[in-house]
Amino acid sequence: MARIVVLGGAESGVGAAVLAKVKGFDVFLSDNGKIKDEYLATLQQWDIPFEQGGHTPEKVLNADEVVKSPGIPGTAPMVRALREQGTHIISEIEFAARYDSAKKICVTGSNGKTTTTSLIYHLLREAGLDAGLGGNIGKSYALQVATEKHDYYVLEISSFQLDDAYDFRPDIAIITNITPDHLDRYDHKLENYARAKFRITRNLRPEDCFIFDSDDAITIRQLSEIVVKAKMLPFSQEKEVPQGAFLRDDRIVVRYEQDETEIFLQELSLGGRHNVYNSMAAALAAKATGISDEVIRSSLKSFAPIEHRLEPVLSIRDVLFINDSKATNVDSAWYALECQTRPVVWIVGGTDKGNDYSVLNDLVRKRVKAIVCLGVDNAKIHAAFEGIVGEDKIVDTRSAEEAVRAGAALASPGDVVLLSPCCASFDLFKNYEDRGRQFKEAVRHL
Ligand code: ADP
Repeated sequence: MARIVVLGGAESGVGAAVLAKVKGFDVFLSDNGKIKDEYLATLQQWDIPFEQGGHTPEKVLNADEVVKSPGIPGTAPMVRALREQGTHIISEIEFAARYDSAKKICVTGSNGKTTTTSLIYHLLREAGLDAGLGGNIGKSYALQVATEKHDYYVLEISSFQLDDAYDFRPDIAIITNITPDHLDRYDHKLENYARAKFRITRNLRPEDCFIFDSDDAITIRQLSEIVVKAKMLPFSQEKEVPQGAFLRDDRIVVRYEQDETEIFLQELSLGGRHNVYNSMAAALAAKATGISDEVIRSSLKSFAPIEHRLEPVLSIRDVLFINDSKATNVDSAWYALECQTRPVVWIVGGTDKGNDYSVLNDLVRKRVKAIVCLGVDNAKIHAAFEGIVGEDKIVDTRSAEEAVRAGAALASPGDVVLLSPCCASFDLFKNYEDRGRQFKEAVRHL
């Protein structure tokens, strides 16, 4: 019996282990750290042998093939040892796709993955299609392949999952955009990061579709260096495209083969320029799947905002509190500020990933009346914006509760208090979800 060793015992690793078990492999899961209780329960339920708190070389190096979780860097000593002895290492999506013949719509990119993936899933469901939603959202793809059966999958895929994919092939591949993020895992080289994202296109066939942002310079540059064999479906807010999606007056035009669909911008449930891009990508995927114009229009209208992404929380004395805790980089905060129509009290800060704040200067000048720093070290934010909003309009806070109170004090009726932190959350919170929830709690307690 072939032996599959899974490295990493979280969502994707445990899903892969269950699938390996179902397919009759001799499977072993090994985690360097502590495995969460819910995952331990799944491993026990499926009777899968595992270890935690370290990798035992004899139990890992004898694998015929290894499924590596995306969180484990390629430089980890055990991964290096496996590579040196020539063991094949793959990602969970690569493994799962071997046992799945469903049509796959796969979304990668720097920002907008979750939103676009969820939009497409909503569109498919509204069209009455049987679809699973997975990848970085919710249940892993491998677990679903092991225990469910669907005609379609809509998968959010990180570049780490793509790094160890070889034969994995989507029917529709989407790159939302490419902006510098996670460069630390790619030798700080943007080309490496862009190339990793473009691995999603490498097995596409002429009948498959590739949907991409043709306003994005990095995407276009990368495209000029490779050949993508699929039907090319760009989306743009700057110019008309022969096939794809673009803006005409107050509407999105989706042009696919001989057909044109129009969607009024005013009817999109998600606001902001970035969500126009996400809606274009989703509408194109739906159109290529054969979903009717009526369903595309009505679904883009009925989609409910996702938690922590420009999520309106409450309006208190005509001050609207918005939770955009997921905005962990400068680019996503840019879009959050850009789409505000009311004066903004901006809550920003956390663990800075080498941010260059200067790209926000114009928007801060136009939209932001005061800044509440929410982080352990706020020196960079002060240095970047004190000259713009004024020294007396930047305050420091160290908890969501303090930040909300400070935000409320600085806001007047008609303003927005926007949590769009530009930074990771790990200095004060468990993760961005924890930060967003504490923010909402604090708003409700005002
Ligand atoms: P991802 O899954 O790629 O992290 P999300 O859909 O969760 O993306 O959105 C993350 C953050 O980026 C949110 O703050 C959201 O408002 C912002 N955002 C969403 N779509 C885009 C886009 N197309 N371009 C830039 N920022 C975006």
